[in-house]
Amino acid sequence: MTSDHIAGIVAARRRAFDDGVTKPLAWRRKQLAGLQRMLVDNGAQLEAALAADLHRSPTETQLADINVVLAETAHALRHLGQWARPKRVPLPLALQPGRGWVVREPLGVVLVIAPWNYPVQLLLGPVVAALAAGNCVVMKPSELAPATSATMARLVPGYLDPRAVTVLEGGAAETTALLEQRFDHIFYTGGARVGRIVAEAAARHLTPVTLELGGKSPVYVDDSVDLAVAAKRIAWGKFMNAGQTCVAPDYLLGTREVLERIVPLIGGAIRELYGEDPQASPDYARIVSPGRFEALTRLLGDGTVAVGGRTDAQDRYIAPTVITGVGEGSRIMQEEIFGPILPALEVSDAAEAIRRIAAGPKPLSLYVFSQREEVRRAFLRGTSSGAVGFNAAVIQQTVIGLPFGGVGDSGMGRYRGEAGFATLSNEKSVLSKPLAPESMSMIFPPYSRRVDSFARGLLRRLS
Ligand code: NAD
Repeated sequence: MTSDHIAGIVAARRRAFDDGVTKPLAWRRKQLAGLQRMLVDNGAQLEAALAADLHRSPTETQLADINVVLAETAHALRHLGQWARPKRVPLPLALQPGRGWVVREPLGVVLVIAPWNYPVQLLLGPVVAALAAGNCVVMKPSELAPATSATMARLVPGYLDPRAVTVLEGGAAETTALLEQRFDHIFYTGGARVGRIVAEAAARHLTPVTLELGGKSPVYVDDSVDLAVAAKRIAWGKFMNAGQTCVAPDYLLGTREVLERIVPLIGGAIRELYGEDPQASPDYARIVSPGRFEALTRLLGDGTVAVGGRTDAQDRYIAPTVITGVGEGSRIMQEEIFGPILPALEVSDAAEAIRRIAAGPKPLSLYVFSQREEVRRAFLRGTSSGAVGFNAAVIQQTVIGLPFGGVGDSGMGRYRGEAGFATLSNEKSVLSKPLAPESMSMIFPPYSRRVDSFARGLLRRLS
C-alpha cells in the first residue's frame, strides 16, 4: 500500500467528518448497534481467528475479548444521550446575568493502533469510545495477530459506515505511513518503544495521544490472607493468555515465609486451572511469535525454576512457571516479562515492597493481597500506578466505571465508559450573556477608584 493510497484513505474520512456524517446521535447509535451485531453474528469466526493466532480457548475469547467490547458498547448506548448533553456551569455573581455550559464535540478523525494480545478488545474498545463521541476512525490491527486482523478487515465494512470507518491492515511500514498523516487523536495500545515513535510522530502535527502501554505490574502478598485463594487468583491473572496480558502480575513480592508457602500453592492452582500437562489443555495459550518465545526462554535462566519450566519451541509453548532466587540486576527484573514466567522476590516487609515499587517506573497495575487495612492504605499512599487491585488481579480492567490507563512509563490518558467518551471529545466551554443589562461596565476603563476597588475584590467575587 503506497503513501498516496493511505493519504487518500485518511482524506476520505476527513471529508466524511467535515460533511457532518458522524455528528448525529442517531448515526452514532447505529454504528454502536452495528458493532454489537458484528460481534454477535461472527463470534465463531473471531473465536477461530484467535485460536489460530494465539491458541486461545473460545471461552476465553468470549470472556476477555468479545464480551468486554459488547458490555462497553451496551453501556455507551445506554448513556450516550446523557454524555453528549451540554453541561450547565453556574456563573459567579459578577458575571450574571448569563449562562455557561460545556459542549462535548467530536474531535475529527481518530487513529486507533492496536496490539496482538487481546486483538478484538484492544482494537474495538477505543473504537466504541471514538464512535460514541462522533468521530471518524481509521483502525490498524496488529500484524502479529494476522487471522484476527484479516477477520476485522473483512467484517467491519459490512457493519460500520464505510464513509467514516476504515480498517487498514499492516505492520511497521504501514503504521509509519499512517503516522505521517494528520489525525485529531491517536489512540495507541502496545509497548513503550513504539509508543515513543507514535508520540514523536503525533507531535509533528500537535495531535493529542492516548498511550496505553505496559510495564512491570507487581503483586504483594502477606500472611493475613488465605494463601490458597491468593495463589489461585494470581495464577489465573498471570497465566491467562500465557501471561501476555498488559495488566498481568509481572512479579511476586513477599516475605520468605510467605513465598515458601505460596509458591507451591501457585503450582497447585496451575494444576487446577490447566491440569497436569498445561500443553495438553485447550485453555492454555501459546507465545505469539518465535522471537518472543526465544526472548522468554532466555529469561528462564535468570533464576531457579520452582514450578513449571518446560518449553517446546515447535509449539511455542512455555509452561506456567514460577522462578525463585532472582538477582536484583537480572534481565527479568529490568524488562516487562509479558509471558508465563512469574519471578518470586523476597522482601522483609510491606514497607520494603513499597520502597522498591516507588523507586521504579510507575506500573500499569499494582496488586496487594492483604486483609490489613493499614497495609492497603500504605500501598495506596506510597506508590503510584494506573490501577490498584486489592485481593484481586486483572479484573479491575474489565469494570466499565473504572477508567483504564497508565501513568508515567505505563502510559497516559484513560478510557472505558464515560472516560473514553471524554478522551475522544473536545470539551468546548461556552459563555453567553444578554446585551442588557450591562453588568460588565464595572470592569471597563477608565479605571476609576470604583473599578480599582472592584478589581481588587474581583478574584474573590469570581470564585
Ligand atoms: P505490537 O507489536 O502488536 O505493536 C503494537 C502496534 O504497533 C501494532 O499495531 C504494530 O503494527 C505497531 N508497530 C509495530 N512497530 C511499529 C513501528 N516501528 N512504527 C509504528 N508502529 C509500529 O504489540 P506489542 O508492542 O508487542 O504489545 C505488547 C505491549 O503492549 C506490552 O508492553 C503490553 O504491556 C502492552 N499492552 C498494553 C495494553 C494497555 O492497555 N495498556 C494492552 C495490551 C498490551
